[in-house]
Amino acid sequence: MSVQISNDVGGLGQPIWSSASCYGSAGRLRGLVTFPTMDNFMHVDPVPSLTSSSFTHEVLHLWGGGNLLPIQEELNGSVTGGHWGVSSEDGYLGGFSSDSLKVAADGSYKADLFWSNGSVGLERPLGFLEKYMMGVLPASEVPDTTVFRGVSQVSTNDSFATCPDDGSWSWEFDVCFRAEERTSVSIEEIIEINGERLYEGAA
Ligand SMILES: [Zn+2]
Repeated sequence: MSVQISNDVGGLGQPIWSSASCYGSAGRLRGLVTFPTMDNFMHVDPVPSLTSSSFTHEVLHLWGGGNLLPIQEELNGSVTGGHWGVSSEDGYLGGFSSDSLKVAADGSYKADLFWSNGSVGLERPLGFLEKYMMGVLPASEVPDTTVFRGVSQVSTNDSFATCPDDGSWSWEFDVCFRAEERTSVSIEEIIEINGERLYEGAA
């Protein structure tokens, strides 16, 4: 879990503020990240591709995280904030890979394994908006983000799988969902709401 303590960067959807002095910091402390156990620092799963970096995830929260997107719905349709939700951000804070998104005959959607509140994989790159947020990708290079509203899960009889068995090898690990609306958010719209996060140079 992370707690922001100060922010001196504009354009993140966060106020410019600081309570760093309350923590004995001369002003540079951005926030605190806590982990319940050492194992949680890096979540190592028996299935290597499901291993994830809780550390990277929590540090991104200190920079504002998913709140940059005006729409962030979870897979169950709830709105909790902080993560990319059911969107094409495909980053440490969630979202699917847009290359994997398919529309089924019944109008529901299917994408490769993802979570709306944080995605797994240690070797995944940061999402475009995550890089923009950290100041290492200029706004001009951030593509539109596909977002969904009115999300609900496709029910199945299986307790784990969200997709019906369509005979494909990956149906158990893919993620299926329904949505009332599919739209996209451009970086111009994000800047109109939050102001521009200035580019600070290559990573
Ligand atoms: Zn989180």
